[in-house]
Amino acid sequence: MTLFDSPAFEGHEGVHSFYDEKTGLKTIIAVHSTARGPAAGGCRMWPYASADAALEDALRLSRAMSYKNAMADLELGGGKAVIIGDSRTMKTPALFEAFGRAVDKLGGSYWTAEDVGVSPADLMSARKQTRFVAGLEGHAAASGDPSPVTAEGVFRGVRLAVRRALNRDLDGVTVAIQGVGHVGAYLAEKLHAAGAKLIITDVNETALAEIAARTGAQVVAPGAIFDVEADVFAPCAMGGAINAATLPRLKAKVIAGGANNQLADLEIGRQVFERGMLYAPDYVINGGGIINVAGEIRALEQGGAFDPAWVAAKLDRLTATLEEVLDRAVTEARPTHEVANEMAKARIAQAEAQRLAA
Ligand code: NAD
Repeated sequence: MTLFDSPAFEGHEGVHSFYDEKTGLKTIIAVHSTARGPAAGGCRMWPYASADAALEDALRLSRAMSYKNAMADLELGGGKAVIIGDSRTMKTPALFEAFGRAVDKLGGSYWTAEDVGVSPADLMSARKQTRFVAGLEGHAAASGDPSPVTAEGVFRGVRLAVRRALNRDLDGVTVAIQGVGHVGAYLAEKLHAAGAKLIITDVNETALAEIAARTGAQVVAPGAIFDVEADVFAPCAMGGAINAATLPRLKAKVIAGGANNQLADLEIGRQVFERGMLYAPDYVINGGGIINVAGEIRALEQGGAFDPAWVAAKLDRLTATLEEVLDRAVTEARPTHEVANEMAKARIAQAEAQRLAA
């Protein structure tokens, strides 16, 4: 497969591959768009079965970052890096320094950060070779763990979707949460404080017991979460939770959670709509994390300290954007994910037109 034949290719501005013989680094950095600003998105280290699989992931994830950053109203484009390799056995500081040199060669058109398989310590190694790294620890611009900010955005998304779909507040509403890791745990606590009843699951039984003790949640086995009687289904684990096998089992009227890529494909999103369920688009409501990272990039660029008030204002704006998506979906009688994708593409196209006119 060549780059331009890939089903995930969608007008990407640049796709760069780097190899470092000494450390064995094989990385692909995909820059989907810089129309709104430098491309930003995390670096994922994963034992991809082939270079094609890595390329496809980089293309798909970088495009998703463009959409997410546009909907979060950030002056950032979308990019993503993937490193081919097993993060449990292949990680070395030298490998991440080589990765930093690769990022640096792009001259600031791509800012990297944490994603699956990559830690703040790895980023510190990369940072020795390039300044285009966010998600660091222990300096004035550092943004810290993005999960609480992500969870706050998701919480607001759940609350708004419940108001729209069920015409009520969260008090007494039953929410089923799949995955109580970083985001899911914070979300559970916020929903509990707002009076929601929780049903939770996780493959990590220790985390599950801890969150259940803190929130009084009912615990179910991972496979059973799709069958429970709940008003809201909140996917907060891995992608693809809404698929042909799970959708017919869901009784919830609202789908709103923190996980990325919740819909297995665009068609399943249409089926969600046709079943009369309200889906709060994942990359809209989980944008709090990248807003937090953007706060760090902003502070690094301006040479100042991280500003939580700037992050809070962007999060308010994100909630307003979700309202706009839900309003348009009702007015146009269309699925929310289609409306969100269209809005994101329009925001990027508008920035591109302004750039060309300048
Ligand atoms: P995490 O790894 O801390 O939590 C995920 C949890 O899901 C873990 O506790 C894991 O045991 C559990 N899990 C995995 N497979 C499961 C299954 N089949 N059934 C039930 N539980 C399962 O990750 P996180 O940072 O909380 O992120 C959760 C999701 O949100 C991911 O999709 C991530 O990409 C997305 N996201 C996270 C952030 C952030 O700020 N952390 C921002 C945006 C999006």
